[in-house]
Amino acid sequence: MSDTTNAEITQDVAVQTLAITRQYKRGSITVPALNGIDLTVKKGEIVGIIGPSGSGKTTLLNMVGGLDSPSHGKVLIDNVDLSTFNDDQLSDYRLHKVGFIFQFYNLIPTMTALENVEVPMNLAKIPKGEREQRALELLKLVGLGSRTDHLPAELSGGEQQRVAVARALANNPSVILGDEPTGDLDSKSAEALMDLLVSLRKGRKTAFILVTHDPLVVGECDRVYSIRDGKVIRTQGKAENRKILGDERTMLNKLY
Ligand code: ADP
Ligand code: MG
Repeated sequence: MSDTTNAEITQDVAVQTLAITRQYKRGSITVPALNGIDLTVKKGEIVGIIGPSGSGKTTLLNMVGGLDSPSHGKVLIDNVDLSTFNDDQLSDYRLHKVGFIFQFYNLIPTMTALENVEVPMNLAKIPKGEREQRALELLKLVGLGSRTDHLPAELSGGEQQRVAVARALANNPSVILGDEPTGDLDSKSAEALMDLLVSLRKGRKTAFILVTHDPLVVGECDRVYSIRDGKVIRTQGKAENRKILGDERTMLNKLY
C-alpha cells in the first residue's frame, strides 16, 4: 500500500535534486558553486530561482540540463537518475527531455523562425514533413503563425523569445529551463512572455525552472527558491511572491 502511495506522489515530480554540490577547481583553489541544493519541481509547475550574481543559479540549471554533473548528490528527471547515463544517453536526454530559453534568444540568424523551431526536431531525426507541420503548429501556439518566414533580425525581441519558446517545446520536453528569459525584454514583452508560459503549462505537463531578477516573473511563479552561496536560504509560495511584487509596486508608486 505505502509503495503505491509513494509511486503516486513521485509521478507528479518532474525534477528533483538531492543534496547536490559542485566544486570548481581553479589552479590550486577549489571554488564551491553549489553547497547542497534540494529542489523539487512538479509537472506543470513554474519554479523561480533568485539570488545574487555568483550564487550558483546558472550552475544549478546546468546540472538539471545535463550540461554539467554534480560533485556529490543526484539529479532525478522523471524519477531517472542522470548519473546513470553515458554520454550518448545524456545527449539524448538534453535533446528530448529539456528545452532551453536564454536571455539573448540564441536563434540562428540565417534561419527563418520556422527553421529555427525545426532545429531540435532535425537533430532528433524527425522527417521533414512532420517537422515542418509541428514547427508551424508551435509557432501558431506562441502567436507567430504569420511570421514563419521571418529571419530573427526581422522580429522584435519579444517575438524572437517566442520563437525560442516554440523551439524549446519542439521535442515535447519534461522541463524547460530559462536563464533570465525576460532579461532583455521591455516590460510589455516580458509580461506577454510570462502570460504565454502560464498558458502553456495549463494543457501540458511541462515544468519550468526560471532563473530571474524580474519581479514580474517572480509574481507568476508557483514557488521561488532564493539561493545564496550555493545554498537555498528561503522558499516562498505564490501568495508571498505576489505580496513582494505588490510591495515593490507600492514602493515604486511612492517614488514616482
Ligand atoms: P550565478 O548564475 O548565480 O551568477 P554561477 O552559477 O554562474 O552563478 O556561478 C557560481 C560560482 O561558481 C561563482 O563563484 C562562479 O565564479 C563559479 N563558477 C561558475 N562556473 C565556473 C567554472 N566553469 N569554473 C570555475 N568557477 C566557476
Ligand atoms: Mg548566471
